[in-house]
Amino acid sequence: MQIQKYFAPGRVNLIGEHLDYNGGLVLPAALTLGVELALLPRNDGKIQLSSPTHSHTLEIDVSDDIAFQTENDWCNYPLGIIAQMKKEGYAVPSCNLIYNSNLPEGSGLSSSAAVEIVTAFALLSQTTSRIDLVWLANFCKQVENEFIGVQCGIMDQYAVALGRQSHALLIDCAALKHDYIPFETGDYVLLIMNTNKPRSLVLSKYNERKAECEEALRVIQTTTSDIKNLCEVVPHAIQQITDEIIYKRARHVVTENLRVKEVIKTLQVNDLSTFGRLMNASHQSLAADYEVSGMELDTMVHAAQQVKGCLGARMTGAGFGGCAIALVHTTKMEELVNKVGEVYIKHTGLMASFYQTEIGDGVSALL
Ligand code: ADP
Ligand code: MG
Repeated sequence: MQIQKYFAPGRVNLIGEHLDYNGGLVLPAALTLGVELALLPRNDGKIQLSSPTHSHTLEIDVSDDIAFQTENDWCNYPLGIIAQMKKEGYAVPSCNLIYNSNLPEGSGLSSSAAVEIVTAFALLSQTTSRIDLVWLANFCKQVENEFIGVQCGIMDQYAVALGRQSHALLIDCAALKHDYIPFETGDYVLLIMNTNKPRSLVLSKYNERKAECEEALRVIQTTTSDIKNLCEVVPHAIQQITDEIIYKRARHVVTENLRVKEVIKTLQVNDLSTFGRLMNASHQSLAADYEVSGMELDTMVHAAQQVKGCLGARMTGAGFGGCAIALVHTTKMEELVNKVGEVYIKHTGLMASFYQTEIGDGVSALL
């Protein structure tokens, strides 16, 4: 029987951080790093899951009842997809599924969404000739929210499913519409810098920020009841928020949404210098107003910003560790890697990792 291969990328968010759950604009891009899935059909009614980066393997019967179990470890992601397909009446084929990846896991580059999307795409491809990618993104988001229990927004699955080479994906998280914005870096490189810091705080702080934004919206709605999302609020309207912390959270959200709009304009005229300045401003706002950065990300980003030839740098993803991105001239990339690596280990005791990657396509079958 013939092996079939599929690929789903990781993603970075270029700008528009913590806006998806505030009904705002986000601007992710798919990477050329990602998860490759080999599907080997079998005919004994079983599915076997394996991944060289994980010792845990699992074999189930297609007809088994499937529920989330902690001891199933990483296999919960493909199991969630299989369970949801069965629930919605899709045929699930008997096969071996082998995951190979060059995408760092648990670093905010959405390896979980890549595993979900590549699994669903591969399994559905066995019986369906055309898969609607927006539908696929929503299907996988539902698995991450309900089966895995992570309350992520729509950005990760959209970017992994719908990304396009040399383009950023603009998503309007209120209208659930998307558009492609050309993004050519020319003589510059989009460098990913990993703090390699375990993101232990991220879940509780994520929920705390969501609650703070809901509170900001509630205050605004007392005077303007037709506002549905914090991102719709005009900057001066947040003055009525008296609590200092809630005010700062709202200020990040409304200014970040304006920055995304500015970035779209700058990318349309390929003005990378202004984009870099907006990246720096985004980081500053996430660090000072939204307070989701932390010593490791700040050290890394500030060190990168000091390097001549670096147009801008910012944390990307939920924060408290994970990754940052820098836009740096190709001739200065090595200098930046050395400088940031040196400063970072000196201040944090941790080794940074760097990935030079390009903007790639969303999920696909490999020939
Ligand atoms: P992120 O999505 O930012 O990478 P998550 O914590 O959401 O971080 O997801 C990481 C988890 O996804 C891993 O701990 C693992 O369970 C699963 N995963 C990611 N890539 C792979 C892979 N190649 N093989 C098996 N499991 C993977
Ligand atoms: Mg994830």
